[in-house]
Amino acid sequence: TCGICVEKCPFDAIEIINLPQELEDDPVHRYGENAFSLYGLPAPQEGQVTGILGPNGIGKTTAVRILAGELEPNLGRYDESPGWEEVLDAYRGTELQDYIADVRDGNVTVSRKPQYVDQIPQQFDGNTRELLERTDERGALDSLVERLSIGPVMDQSIDDLSGGELQRVAIAATLARDTDFYFLDEVTPYLDIGQRVTAARLTRELAEEEGKSVLVVEHDLAILDLLCDTLHVAYGEPGAYGVITTPKSVRNGINEYLSGYLENENMRIRPSQIEFEEHAPRNATHRDTLVEYLDMTKSYGDGEFELAVEGGEIMEGEVLGIVGPNGIGKSTFAQLLTGDLEPTTGETDLDLDISYKPQYVTIDQHMRVDVFLSSITDQFGSSHWNTEIAQPLQLERIMEQNLSDLSGGERQRVAIAACLSDSADLYLLDEPSAHLDVEQRVQATSAIRRHAEMHDATVLVIDHDTYVIDLLADRLMVFDGEPAIEGRAGTPQPMREGMNDFLENLEITFRRDERTSRPRINKPDSQLDREQKREGEYYYSV
Ligand code: ADP
Ligand code: ADP
Repeated sequence: TCGICVEKCPFDAIEIINLPQELEDDPVHRYGENAFSLYGLPAPQEGQVTGILGPNGIGKTTAVRILAGELEPNLGRYDESPGWEEVLDAYRGTELQDYIADVRDGNVTVSRKPQYVDQIPQQFDGNTRELLERTDERGALDSLVERLSIGPVMDQSIDDLSGGELQRVAIAATLARDTDFYFLDEVTPYLDIGQRVTAARLTRELAEEEGKSVLVVEHDLAILDLLCDTLHVAYGEPGAYGVITTPKSVRNGINEYLSGYLENENMRIRPSQIEFEEHAPRNATHRDTLVEYLDMTKSYGDGEFELAVEGGEIMEGEVLGIVGPNGIGKSTFAQLLTGDLEPTTGETDLDLDISYKPQYVTIDQHMRVDVFLSSITDQFGSSHWNTEIAQPLQLERIMEQNLSDLSGGERQRVAIAACLSDSADLYLLDEPSAHLDVEQRVQATSAIRRHAEMHDATVLVIDHDTYVIDLLADRLMVFDGEPAIEGRAGTPQPMREGMNDFLENLEITFRRDERTSRPRINKPDSQLDREQKREGEYYYSV
C-alpha cells in the first residue's frame, strides 16, 4: 500500500508518482479517528454552474453539507471543533472566502435535488401539483412544467410516478425555488437523451439569466460537459479519503479525467486512458448473420401502446447499440427477442440462447453474491474471470454480501457480471449504466467491450449515456415514434447513419474534442450546429 489507503491500493501495480499535495495539509473535515477525511472544497460562483466529477463515496455530499451550512467543518480536529471563525481564516484569500463568510453568518439559502429520487414518495403524500406549488418562488414553475413535459402527471399521486417522471418533478421543484445556492446531485438518472439535454439547459439558464450559484454532480460526461462552466475533479479512496481539486476548465477537467492523469496535481487516478474514435466504425461486411428477424408488431391492452418492428439482422460478434426516447418500446423489443413476450403480429422463433440483463434489476434472493455468481459460471474465481469481470466491476468488496442488501449500483454491477458470465449466443443489456458512477461506467463499458472482443460475442446494449454507446457500439438501432402511444423500431444500421437519424429527431449535434476525440454537444444555433445540420452530419464530422 502507499501509506494513505487503508485498504488495498486502488492503482495496483502502478507506481505512485507522489502523494497528492493536499494530503500533506490538514483536511477540511474528518469524521473521526481513522474515519473519512475530505480534502478541498468546491467553489460555487454566482452566475455559474460548477461541476464535480468523480466516483461516489469520496465526500461530495460532505462537501455540499459544508457549503449549505449544515456541517461545520473541523479542519481535521474531530475532537475539538475549531468553529467558523477559524475556518474562515483558513480560507482567507481564496475564492471561497466570501462564500464561507456568508455561510458563517447564516446568509446562504439552499435548494437541493437529492440523488435518489425514488425516496421522494416516502417523504411526500399528495399529487405532483401540490408538491410543485409549494416550490413556486421565482414564478418559473409553469415554464419548468412545460419544458420538462410534466403536464400529463400534474394530478397524479407522487406514489404513482415512474422514475423518469419523479426525476423531472424533482428537478422542477429544485429549480423553481428562489435561493442563493442550488445543488443538483445527478440530473440524468431515468431520463432519455432529450430529457437530459433539457434538464441541463434549464439548469444553465438559472445560472446565466438569474445569476445564481449552481453546483452539480453528474456521471453522464456528455451532459456534465454541457452543464458546467468550471469543474472540480474528485478522487481518492472511497470510504477512506477524498480530494476535491481546485477548479479546472470543463474541457481540461474531463480530458484529464479520461486520460487517467491530473496534470496540475501530478496525480494518476487510473492506470489506463479512455479512448474515443473520431470516425464511425467501418461496416463489418465479413461478419456472418447470427439471426434474422422479420417485421412484427406488439400492442398492449386495447392498443394503448403499439410497437412496430422493422425486420433486420443481428451479425455475429457485433455490439449493436439501441437508442431512443423513454416509453418507445425498447424494453418491449428486448423481451420479444428473449421470448418473454409474444408478438401480436409476426413471429419470433429465434432459437437463440440469450443472456438478458433487464432494465430493472430484481435479484433480491437471500443469497450471497459469490454463491449466486458461482451458480452461473464454473469460471467463477479463475484468474481470467477475476481480471475480466470481478475487477472492472468492483465485485471483490461485495462478494460476501447478500443480494437483498445491495445498493442500486452494486446490484447493477452484479447483474452485468451475471449476464456476461453466462454462456450464450446473444448478450442483451438493458441500461447497464443506470445507478453507476462515472468511474464504474468507464470500467463496466470496457468490461463489456472486452467481453465482446475476446469471445467474439454478440451484444445488444440499450443505453442513454452517449459515451457508453459511443465506446461500445459497432452499429445502431434507432427507435422513434410517440412515447407511450406508438413506437417504431428501425432496422440496425451503421453508426453514422444511425446517429444521424437519432439526433436529427432530437435536433442535437455533436462535435469531437480535438485532443481526445470525445463527443461534445454543440450549442444550439452555434456556427458548427448550423453547419452540421445543413450537411446532415449530426455526430461524426468526417
Ligand atoms: P459521496 O457524496 O461522494 O458519495 P459522502 O460525502 O456521502 O460521499 O461520504 C464520504 C464518506 O464519508 C463515506 O465513506 C461515508 O460513509 C462517510 N461519512 C459520511 N457521513 C459520515 C458521518 N456522519 N460520520 C462518519 N462517516 C461519515
Ligand atoms: P422503453 O423501454 O423504450 O422505455 P417500454 O418497452 O418499456 O419502453 O414501454 C413502451 C410503452 O409500453 C410504455 O408506454 C409502457 O408504459 C407500455 N408498457 C410496457 N409494458 C406494458 C405492459 N405489460 N402492459 C401495458 N403497457 C405496457
